[in-house]
Amino acid sequence: MTSPSPPPRVVLKPQRAKPFFGRHPWLFAGAVARVVGEPENGQPVAVYSAEGQFIAWGLYNDRSQILVRLYSWDYDQPLDEQFWRSRLQRAVQFRSEELGLVRPKGACRVVFSEADGLSGLIADWYDGWLVLQPTALGIRQRLELLARLLRDLLPVRGVYVRTEKGMREAEGMELEDHLLEGEPPPAEIEIEEGPVRFLVNVCTGQKTGWYLDQRENRQAAARYARGRRVLDLFSYAGGFALWCVRGGAAEVLAVDSSAAAIELGSRNAVHNGVNSVRFERADVFQWVDQAVARGEQWDMVIVDPPRLARRKRGVPSALRGYGHLNRKALELLRPGGILVTCSCSGQISRELFAGVLREAAFATGRDVQILEQRGAAPDHPVSLYCPENSYLKCFICRVL
Ligand code: SAH
Repeated sequence: MTSPSPPPRVVLKPQRAKPFFGRHPWLFAGAVARVVGEPENGQPVAVYSAEGQFIAWGLYNDRSQILVRLYSWDYDQPLDEQFWRSRLQRAVQFRSEELGLVRPKGACRVVFSEADGLSGLIADWYDGWLVLQPTALGIRQRLELLARLLRDLLPVRGVYVRTEKGMREAEGMELEDHLLEGEPPPAEIEIEEGPVRFLVNVCTGQKTGWYLDQRENRQAAARYARGRRVLDLFSYAGGFALWCVRGGAAEVLAVDSSAAAIELGSRNAVHNGVNSVRFERADVFQWVDQAVARGEQWDMVIVDPPRLARRKRGVPSALRGYGHLNRKALELLRPGGILVTCSCSGQISRELFAGVLREAAFATGRDVQILEQRGAAPDHPVSLYCPENSYLKCFICRVL
C-alpha cells in the first residue's frame, strides 16, 4: 500500500506567525513565504511557521484576499467530516439547549461564522427552515455536507441558500439563491419573538429574512416605550415598532425606504391586531431634515440604519452619516425623551460611535445619558480571537 501524499503546506514568513498561533482565523497572502504542493481552491492545507512548527489546518483560496481560513489548531484534528460535525454541534447545542431558541415558531442564528469557529458560514433557522449563507469558497464547496450534518442536529424541513452581494469578486465564488434540499420555504414563515409575531420571507427578505441580531435590543427598547410617541427610523418590517406597541407606546411611526419592508410591516401590524403603527416610505436622511423643519417632537426615536461603512476607506463618510442622523434624532426628541441608536458597521468601533453621539449631543446642546450599551443577541457571539466579528452597537439613551 502506498501512503497518501502529504497535504499541501503553507509556510509563513519569519515573524509573521504570532496572530495565527493566537488563533486569528484569517491568513492574508502578505504573511506567506511559500506554498508547498499545489492546493486547489477550497481544499485543506496545513499552515506552518518559518521555523517549521505546525500552526493550524485551513482551507485555501487564492481568489480571496484571505488566502487561508483557519479552522483547527490541532494537528490530529484535520478538516474531516468528524471535525465539521463537532463544530456544528457545539454551535447548535448552545442555541437550542442554553438559549432555547430552537422551538416551534422560533428563529435564530445557529452558526455565526468566526464566532463559532466556522469562518465563512452563516446558518439561520426559522421555524424549521434552515437558511445557509456561505461567504467563503471552501464552505460553499462543503454546503451539501454541512446541510446534512445540520439536519442531524436540528429539525429541518427545507434548506435554502442565500447569497451575499460581492462574493464573486471577494471569493471567486459562483452561486445563486436556491433551494438546496427538502420543502421550499413558504412565502411567509411566522416567527415569534416573545409576545410579538412576525412574518418572514426567507427567499426575498433582507439578510436571510429577519434582523435576528436585534432581537433583544427590540425587547430592551420596548421597556422604555410606555405611553410614548415613538419614531422608528429604518424600521424594516416593524421589528422595533411592534415591540414598542407591546411595551405600551401611545403611537408609532415607522419609516423605511423599502416598499417591500413597508408592505410587510403593515401586514405584521395587522397580524398582531395592532392599529397604532403607521408605516411611511421615505429616505430617512431627507425625512429627518423635513421633520425637524416642520418642528416635529417625539418622545422616543429609534435609529437603526443599514451598514454605512463597508470598508475602512468608507469610515469618514459613514461617521458623517451617523452624525447627521443622530443630530436630527436629538432635535426631534422632547426633553426626557429616549434615543435608541444603532450602528452595524464593523469598521466603526464602539468608542468611535460613542464619539459621534457626543458630538451630536454637543452640537444640539443636549445632555445625553447612556442607559444601556448593548450589542447583538447571544446567538451572534463575538470570538475574542476575531474581534472583527463584533459589529453591532446599540445605545439606549435618555435625552435631557
Ligand atoms: N430596525 C430593523 C432593521 C433595520 S435594517 C429591525 O429591527 O428589523 C436597515 C433598514 O434601513 C432596512 O430596512 C432598509 O430598507 C432601510 N434603509 C436603507 N437605506 C435607507 C434610507 N436611505 N432611508 C430609509 N430606509 C433605508
